[in-house]
Amino acid sequence: MGTGVPSGLQIHGGALEGSQVGSIPTHSLHFLNMKRVINATGILIHTNLGRSPLPKEVIRRLEETTTAYIPLEYDLKEGERGRRDTIIEGLLEELTGAEAGIVVNNNAAGLLLTLNTIAGGREVIISRGELIELGESFRLPEVIASSGAILRVVGSINQTTIDDYRGAIGENTALIMVCHRSNFTVEGQVSSPDFVEIVKLAHSKGLPFVYDEGSGRLIEHITDGAPSLREAIQLGADLVLSSGDKLLGGPQAGLILGRRDYVMRLRKNHLFRALRVDKLTYIALRGVLEVYVKSRESELPVIKNIEMNTQELKKRAQRVVRGLKKIGQKSVICEIVDSIAEVGGGSLPGIPLKSVAVKVRVEGINAHQLAGRLRLADTPIIGRIEGEWVVMDMRSLLEGEEAMIVKGIRRAVD
Ligand SMILES: *Cc1c(COP(=O)(O)O)cnc(C)c1O
Repeated sequence: MGTGVPSGLQIHGGALEGSQVGSIPTHSLHFLNMKRVINATGILIHTNLGRSPLPKEVIRRLEETTTAYIPLEYDLKEGERGRRDTIIEGLLEELTGAEAGIVVNNNAAGLLLTLNTIAGGREVIISRGELIELGESFRLPEVIASSGAILRVVGSINQTTIDDYRGAIGENTALIMVCHRSNFTVEGQVSSPDFVEIVKLAHSKGLPFVYDEGSGRLIEHITDGAPSLREAIQLGADLVLSSGDKLLGGPQAGLILGRRDYVMRLRKNHLFRALRVDKLTYIALRGVLEVYVKSRESELPVIKNIEMNTQELKKRAQRVVRGLKKIGQKSVICEIVDSIAEVGGGSLPGIPLKSVAVKVRVEGINAHQLAGRLRLADTPIIGRIEGEWVVMDMRSLLEGEEAMIVKGIRRAVD
């Protein structure tokens, strides 16, 4: 699965096992899970590594606003109680063309709220090919069941026709849903109706159409063919759902965008209070959305890395290799190689990104031992194991991490 750790490397538990950690006290082990790590996996949005890193300017904003009081639910003009969800509503509308939008804890929460509000006790029609499972605890059929809606599956794993959808519509139908296959691709004999065809069918029967977009894609020049948030709204989706911390590049959150009347109903559901987000999320999300409004999204760490050309990646690799040569340790053998990175994290599946990697091995220890030592470096380095090599992909690095990699490897061979 795209979000999993590459084979041979374990994050959960793995970093805490191995012989080197025997002497580390338990409280420090917990801290190990909260420190910066270097993502050299080549998976840019890695759920196990906290998905998207936030841009620095957003963190500066967080510091300014969270060390003081803010009018989170206070209307400064009127001097009375205000609403927290208006903090970002305007921006969401500007960026996607949606009439309204709200934010909840994550996309799973968005689904729960949407289906509970609009489809509680009634049927949700969805294609069998879209009953996705993501990570450990997100299975669409289970999420739908816990919302109180009834799953009505149509079609087969690889083929669903518009007549399948039409045939399933009945008195108890609440809505038609399309879910982005965000962490896998199906190849071979695959077909499903056009997005617009399904939207039209839903509307002709007076039903809302809900699109679980998943990734929060606002950029349009990089696509896997599925509609972006804006495109989905333009194509007539009544509600569009996504995560905040995947391709969007923000904090963990669930965005729900679309028709004002539906959004108002979601807001009135008592579950909304239970699923709402705190000021940290609102401030961080607002900061990231403002980056898009200023058309500076190429500066967001994940988007910057997606757009980076292989020439620049090669420079990263050369910095690592030069640094390693300077250590003057003959036992360290390294090489620059071509690599394939991926966006990961339930975004743009099946779109390989040409990349550059540095592969390293150290005489006298095997790749698993080296990887284990690198995971316990001052700044842990998470790479991939390929045969006898530890491979570090340059596309998922952040600024200045080349020197940290060199330092980590030096410590590993000391
Ligand atoms: C990632 C994803 C989810 C779950 O999102 P969380 O923010 O992790 O809850 C749901 N649906 C789709 C299509 C996704 O890609």
